[in-house]
Amino acid sequence: MISAGKFFDGHNDLLLRLWVNHADNPASAFFAGREQGHLDFPRMRQGGFAGGLFAVFVPPVAWLAGERGQEVARVQAQHDALAIAEAQIAILHQLAQASAGRARLCLTATEIEQCLQQDVLALVMHIEGAEMLDEELTLLDRFYHLGLRSIGPFWNLPNRFGVGVSGGFPGSPDTGDGMTAAGKALIRACNQRRLLIDLSHMNEKTFWQTAELSDAPLVATHSNAHALCAQPRNLTNAQLEAIAASDGFVGVNFGNAFLRADGQRNADTSLNEIVNHLCFLLDKLGEDRVGFGSDFDGISVPESLGDVAGMPSLFNALTAAGIDADLQEKLAWRNWLRVLKRTWGQ
Ligand SMILES: [Zn+2]
Repeated sequence: MISAGKFFDGHNDLLLRLWVNHADNPASAFFAGREQGHLDFPRMRQGGFAGGLFAVFVPPVAWLAGERGQEVARVQAQHDALAIAEAQIAILHQLAQASAGRARLCLTATEIEQCLQQDVLALVMHIEGAEMLDEELTLLDRFYHLGLRSIGPFWNLPNRFGVGVSGGFPGSPDTGDGMTAAGKALIRACNQRRLLIDLSHMNEKTFWQTAELSDAPLVATHSNAHALCAQPRNLTNAQLEAIAASDGFVGVNFGNAFLRADGQRNADTSLNEIVNHLCFLLDKLGEDRVGFGSDFDGISVPESLGDVAGMPSLFNALTAAGIDADLQEKLAWRNWLRVLKRTWGQ
């Protein structure tokens, strides 16, 4: 029995936040609660967050310098993608180890389902931007054995595997070149290992190259509908058709700039904007292929949501929009488990 209001979430940047702000004591900051951000264990419990994909993300140097202010020089000296990725993976493992049974690293959809039933937080390891991987992919199996089950090959900037989506609002996702030979090899390697491939930061060319190459369901873990909000990061109707045809999935992003028709980051965004994107995607993809991909701790969310503890407000908005309990359960976790099981095979 999995109670109403629990949900599985396709994307968050908690590991980055813990690595930036709580490198000395990430697990105690997480379990005790922290001042900043959208996520920590007490607020996740309050909001019904039962599990999710946790991104390992190596930020660009300039971005990182802004976050850490005075520490710029030290951070730049340390800026080595593999070391940063390994530090964030170590934090994820620490969360499970220090949890006293309250959190578990999950490798299969069955394990996630058990966690949901047993009130244990389900942690799934995801890479956002494969900057830490070598072109020969010798590191991929090392990450797999550390628990990696999902990869978005690109973030916003080009890397050795190809070009992610970038550019301002309003804009098309057609923002440059596609994948390199190494990028195509990465897609095939993910298929061979049944790793989930995340299309969320792909530009037009990389999206269609992946659709052509991959034999897995097409999944965008944290993206919205381009027809409602013309951010290059959102999915066009043609892309949504391809996702539906593959029996794939889209997790709706709660970021203001990805929701609003005006593309602004303003937090005075109604929760109905999230409901509108969900309904649009349900119409395009069917009721088994849509869920949540909050992007908590990575973006600014509507102030009426606030942080993860505000999730009951979103469920209330779904009810007010006429979405019944069965469909809410599909959006909340059942559809995520379905596509993960199809992708991973277990
Ligand atoms: Zn992202």
